[in-house]
Amino acid sequence: MVDADLVVIGAGALGLSTALNAALLGRRPVVVERHTAGSQASGRAAGLFKSVQADELRTWLARRSIELALTFGDWAGSELAVTRSGSLLIARTDQHKAYLQTEARQSALWGVDVREARQGELSSQVSYFRGDGREYALCCPEDIYIEEPISLIRAYLEAGRLHGLELLESEAVTGVIVPGDRVTGVETTRRSIAAPVVVDAAGAWTRQAAELAGGEVAVAPVRHQLLITEPADAVDPADPIARIVDAAVYLRPARGGLMAGCFEAAPLPLDPRAQPPSFSTDDVPLDIAVLQVMARQVAREVPVLSDAVVSDGAVTTAVAEHRGGLFTMTPDGRFVTGPVPDVPGLWVASGCNGSGFSSSLALGEALAGWIFGRDPHVDLGPLSPGRFGPVTDEALVKAGVWQYAHYYDPAPS
Ligand SMILES: Cc1cc2nc3c(=O)[nH]c(=O)nc-3n(C[C@H](O)[C@H](O)[C@H](O)COP(=O)(O)OP(=O)(O)OC[C@H]3O[C@@H](n4cnc5c(N)ncnc54)[C@H](O)[C@@H]3O)c2cc1C
Repeated sequence: MVDADLVVIGAGALGLSTALNAALLGRRPVVVERHTAGSQASGRAAGLFKSVQADELRTWLARRSIELALTFGDWAGSELAVTRSGSLLIARTDQHKAYLQTEARQSALWGVDVREARQGELSSQVSYFRGDGREYALCCPEDIYIEEPISLIRAYLEAGRLHGLELLESEAVTGVIVPGDRVTGVETTRRSIAAPVVVDAAGAWTRQAAELAGGEVAVAPVRHQLLITEPADAVDPADPIARIVDAAVYLRPARGGLMAGCFEAAPLPLDPRAQPPSFSTDDVPLDIAVLQVMARQVAREVPVLSDAVVSDGAVTTAVAEHRGGLFTMTPDGRFVTGPVPDVPGLWVASGCNGSGFSSSLALGEALAGWIFGRDPHVDLGPLSPGRFGPVTDEALVKAGVWQYAHYYDPAPS
């Protein structure tokens, strides 16, 4: 007996987008979630969408996702609030200026609306940024953000339910049923579910979920953190996103204050397989020292941030929220999306590399189309999990950490 056309393991952004798009194709998806929808990485995201990417496929996915976010109500049937802020990419060194100039040339070829900022534009457009006029900046008017990440999760769910998506929360997938040469369903803590397709969208637990079926997926979870200051006069809610690439720092208005996150050079890898079964994102240790280093690096340009994080007592603005979670990094910094080798019927949507929240809209659309033989809009073949071949844990973590540390200056494709 078939209970569903597909079972999705994990109700994060990637799993829910895939399930919603399957439902829109007339299929019956069941999403099984160990905790609650959006409670892990997706609910902690900064909500940023970035049109400038390191290769053509990721650029396409990023821009398609922006388009799908802006038109969500039209194609999905539920509302999604999006802030059309635009963004600035800022370089304070000649090396990073050259890097941005290359990115701008490439991105323009791939269709992105990107141009050099004019003299004075940076200081006039971004009230929380106090430059000295010598910075180099690119304007990216297409970029957007979603103020509270949980609103995308709610929108996926609301739209999905309109089209037949079923969500089972507080229920873990404990086994993938592979009686012969292909997957026929899953076992959960509460039931068996028969389905010809299972999608592993388990985020930081992607490897464990694949291993339940004897599959291998090369992802290395790595910690990422951000903070939001208390409301501050220095921040105009209408300000754009700013990314200071030489410091690997991103900034945007949030709840009347400033959100700031960074990609440190020596991030913390954290494999849930080595943790107790109860391990969740709430157990990821947070370290404000990482964000203090970030704030010092941009103290002159973003005083509201250093006031909040590194002040020696004369605090004018405090930190209202400090949060973190796990990215799923891959050896080449690209998503892993497609059929898992040697396990027919098992697919994966993971390897977020820090962009899974935003790119979930286009990835879910393309993956559902691929699985069910409909128009995927783009060829996800280059992102298939089989591209890595066997990789040791040590090599995987080393490569994943490298990719994390080079988020704003990745290796060329
Ligand atoms: C602080 C922070 C800021 C970020 N900012 C951005 C940003 O600005 N833009 C962006 O694009 N991305 C951002 N990201 C990355 C983004 O959050 C992730 O790429 C995205 O959320 C990944 O979604 P996911 O569905 O793969 O994972 P998750 O949201 O973690 O979902 C996976 C789900 O699977 C469930 N699960 C695992 N195992 C099982 C099982 N056996 N049975 C049932 N359920 C299971 C988990 O409980 C979890 O809910 C950020 C991440 C962090 C931590």
